[in-house]
Amino acid sequence: MESNPIGEIQKNKMIKRAINGFKTAWKGLTLTMKALFTSNAKRKVTPITDDNYFKQQNNTNTIQYPKQEMPVPEVGRYQLDVEIDDCIVCDLCAKICPVNCIDIESIKSTEGSIGETSDGSKKLLYAAKFDIDMAKCMYCGLCTIVCPTECIVMTNQYDKTVFELSNLTYEFSDMSPEDAAEKRMLLEKQQAEKQAAKLAAMKAKEGGA
Ligand code: SF4
Ligand code: SF4
Repeated sequence: MESNPIGEIQKNKMIKRAINGFKTAWKGLTLTMKALFTSNAKRKVTPITDDNYFKQQNNTNTIQYPKQEMPVPEVGRYQLDVEIDDCIVCDLCAKICPVNCIDIESIKSTEGSIGETSDGSKKLLYAAKFDIDMAKCMYCGLCTIVCPTECIVMTNQYDKTVFELSNLTYEFSDMSPEDAAEKRMLLEKQQAEKQAAKLAAMKAKEGGA
């Protein structure tokens, strides 16, 4: 009976592949077993100021979260917070946001200044809406940099779990919808009065000419 050289080559290839497969699986398995039996110590929770904070702790398990938490730097970029009393509703944060996750509605006050921020800036606008969609936020921190009154800040609060995605939209405005509607109406009325006075003045000028 004649031998088939092509069949022999294919058979050898298959044997080689099978051996390689076993070798790879063995390597992965030994690594897993090694990690399983050597990781037998609890990870020490060290404060961020500790020199060894970033040092790798050998033979440790991961921490027992949420019973155990690793401290994070105070300057960490996690959840955004807005001190709305210090906001002048300038919209700069919303304009610079690369992903449009800040949604602000401002209403101009009809009485001029409505107060001052803690740094003495005049407040001329009401924040009828100030929502931040943290589900969209990419934590770039640009909004905190441009804020003239430094009232929008990144906090080190990272543990924020919600069941509904919509719950990641934080609402910072402290205005009720009724108040906002009233201020909108007052502004529209003032603008209409101004427009009417302007038209009357133009007509009077045309009539006198
Ligand atoms: S951190 Fe960046 S992405 Fe998030 S709200 Fe501010 S500007 Fe937008
Ligand atoms: S930049 Fe600051 S002051 Fe201006 S709207 Fe945003 S949070 Fe308010």
